[in-house]
Amino acid sequence: MSNGDCIFCKIVAGDLPCTRVYEDDDVLAFMDIGPIIKGHTLVIPKAHIDPLTNVPDELLSRLILVVRKIVGAQMKGLDADGINVTQANGAVAGQVVPHLHFHVIPRFENDKHHWNWNAKSYDSTDEMEGVAAQIRSGLPLEI
Ligand code: 5GP
Ligand code: ZN
Repeated sequence: MSNGDCIFCKIVAGDLPCTRVYEDDDVLAFMDIGPIIKGHTLVIPKAHIDPLTNVPDELLSRLILVVRKIVGAQMKGLDADGINVTQANGAVAGQVVPHLHFHVIPRFENDKHHWNWNAKSYDSTDEMEGVAAQIRSGLPLEI
């Protein structure tokens, strides 16, 4: 469940240093070395898993509970005004480290960070309905 070429697996093993915020048997939360905002924390499974669709339900539950814990801790401990939680799947989505991770990023009034959220539109309602039908065709029978 560990990948010798993976930076995050090396961090879990203690072969690379990190500043730990929270740890249990399955999950590690540590400081991102390149914070979008100071306090930016990563939450990862200790096992080498990627992408999100490969995580067993129980471990995903553990992960999202720790994400919630870190959100609360940043609000309380850093007095954050808000929090972004993001997670990328695939290089095209901006993922650099191919070991599942959630970014938990504290936000402050006047922190001057702006996401490049470039909202677009559909040509028609029919186009949007068609894309929704494609997504529905990919849904598993059970969730
Ligand atoms: P991604 O772009 O894959 O979603 O995010 C990877 C994150 O890992 C980046 O925010 C980057 O700053 C962080 N990161 C990369 N290498 C290291 C490292 O060696 N130590 C720590 N603490 N964070 C890292
Ligand atoms: Zn890994």
